[in-house]
Amino acid sequence: MSEAATATPEKMGFKAEVRELLQLMIHSLYSHREIFLRELISNASDANDKLRFLALADPGLLGEEKELGVWIEADAKAGTISVRDNGIGMTREEAVAHLGTIAKSGTAEFFGKLTGDAQKDSALIGQFGVGFYSAFIVADRVEVLSRKAGQPAGAGVRWSSAADGEFTVETVERAERGTQVILHLKDDAKEYADAWRLRSLVRRYSDHLAFPVFMPKEGAATLDFEAVNQAKALWTRPRTEVTDDEYREFYRHIAHDGEAPLAWSHNKVEGKREYTSLLYIPARAPFDLNQRDAARGLKLHVKRVFIMDDAEQFLPLYLRFIKGVLDSSDLPLNVSRELLQKDPEVEAMRSALTKRALDLVARLAKEDPEKYTQFWREFGAVLKEGVSEDYSSRDKLLPLLRFASTHEAGDEDKTGLADYVARMQPGQQKIYYVVADSRAAARGSPFIEQLRARKVEVLLLGDRVDPWIMGQLHEFEGKAFQDAASGDLDLTGLPEADKPAADSAAPDEAQGKALLERVAKALDDAVAGVKASQRLAESPACLTRGEDGLSESMRRVLAAAGRGELPASKPQLELNLAHPLVKRLAGLEEPDFSELSQLLYDQAQLTEQGQLANPGEFSRRLNSLLLKLLQH
Ligand code: ADP
Repeated sequence: MSEAATATPEKMGFKAEVRELLQLMIHSLYSHREIFLRELISNASDANDKLRFLALADPGLLGEEKELGVWIEADAKAGTISVRDNGIGMTREEAVAHLGTIAKSGTAEFFGKLTGDAQKDSALIGQFGVGFYSAFIVADRVEVLSRKAGQPAGAGVRWSSAADGEFTVETVERAERGTQVILHLKDDAKEYADAWRLRSLVRRYSDHLAFPVFMPKEGAATLDFEAVNQAKALWTRPRTEVTDDEYREFYRHIAHDGEAPLAWSHNKVEGKREYTSLLYIPARAPFDLNQRDAARGLKLHVKRVFIMDDAEQFLPLYLRFIKGVLDSSDLPLNVSRELLQKDPEVEAMRSALTKRALDLVARLAKEDPEKYTQFWREFGAVLKEGVSEDYSSRDKLLPLLRFASTHEAGDEDKTGLADYVARMQPGQQKIYYVVADSRAAARGSPFIEQLRARKVEVLLLGDRVDPWIMGQLHEFEGKAFQDAASGDLDLTGLPEADKPAADSAAPDEAQGKALLERVAKALDDAVAGVKASQRLAESPACLTRGEDGLSESMRRVLAAAGRGELPASKPQLELNLAHPLVKRLAGLEEPDFSELSQLLYDQAQLTEQGQLANPGEFSRRLNSLLLKLLQH
């Protein structure tokens, strides 16, 4: 590239999504405008972290300027604020790439999630990590001057934009290493250039940082900087000296989340192994919680030096919602992801941190059930994965599970297993549950009619993973789990249902047996057998599979997981012999007998699978029956 070419400022367009985002942000974040400062200070601190890390391998990068810091000053007259770091810096190409696009995938989903509610949107925007652009909430023009560490003074870059869809870049001479962001404040945002106002904001956003943040000394005639924060990484301070506000602010910095966390746990481990951990439970699930390549894990430090983001080796997958920091005194400074995978120390820390994280969740459940309900709504489905992933933590996980239940109205998961056991009926030995496509469908399931009639509580499950998870649970506090839809439902020992009305009493045994045989013949190939039901009260019929047979819901989980064709298995038809329709069936002749038997079977299939093998045939049958009724 010739000198002339690089010296002329080059005009470039923002990517469409950046343009849209800028507009959105300027409007939706208007009421929280001061967060621009948090974002810029946070970026400056990250830039210093990155340089300190690279300097471990290449100390020459630091040159003469070994102390890393952040400098902030305002010019009230000119209406500008400057935030400068002496960290890693950017090349011209990097400035174009990082400040002109949104690197993260999933932009479309992000826009889809914006609600128009400023409070919610600002949390989302924070989560999405578009921090730098927040400068445009208060500035109508932003200038970025930067020079990458290790590059000569001639390789500086000047980036500038007025948020009008374009930015310019040019190569400039720049003596200082690192990045300086200069905000030209909008008329209605000039208040931020007020020294006193700025200072109090900077304090709030920088007390937890590991680097000193400098501001001009008040009242000094010449420019004389002083540090306005403690410059001590928050997790290295004793718990008793850190305020809740500081913990929350630090969370915002590491998690890029505008919303306050639900809970945190800060621990120092000493002895054979030495490390400090600070774990947080976020208030809201990130939009990419279930994407395979989503960032997860802790921010890893070794002896206070930042090493990497998203160190996922320290927590199991089902705890991927936990955010936080880990600072080890034992790992080598040159540790890499590959080394972490092999290190037995890491394995030991992982199991200790898993325990720590589960204890934190348990504490939230115990101390603040309302917040726990919120937690469960956001992360319950993920935490549940632990039941099958982490056998050794099962004792800790089971008390954390929450379910919808026949004991409570509504679809919210509020019932814990301990609550259930405490409410068990006299004589009840098992924990009953039923799985359907949704909690509402589970509540209406015919499989639990008898249990309900006997006032036996049933847990209602409706997540896709539920059949899989529940299939792996055996017992809680000595009580076995029982799927209300599976096998023969043994009701011995349970309280009696309120006395059935005289006309709904079941026919005698011989009559019943004869009816079952007739129905079996009429349905012929469709079912494995027909028997009298224990579980039905209001419905005439249902389909069940044996204890060992795959339930229909499990079959769907496996099919969705791509397990291919599963061997067909025939269900059992259960008839409620006390049901008036079934009683009338006994008196019918052919072809009506077969037609009604088939209709009962179709209905049962509908409730079990939500669909019919042959819907056309079902409609024909139903219509001819209706016609017959109307002719009478
Ligand atoms: P995030 O920090 O979440 O990645 P930002 O929009 O705040 O998103 O920043 C985008 C990118 O710009 C950063 O990832 C970083 O590469 C670069 N950047 C921003 N500020 C600085 C800075 N002070 N020094 C060096 N690089 C920076």
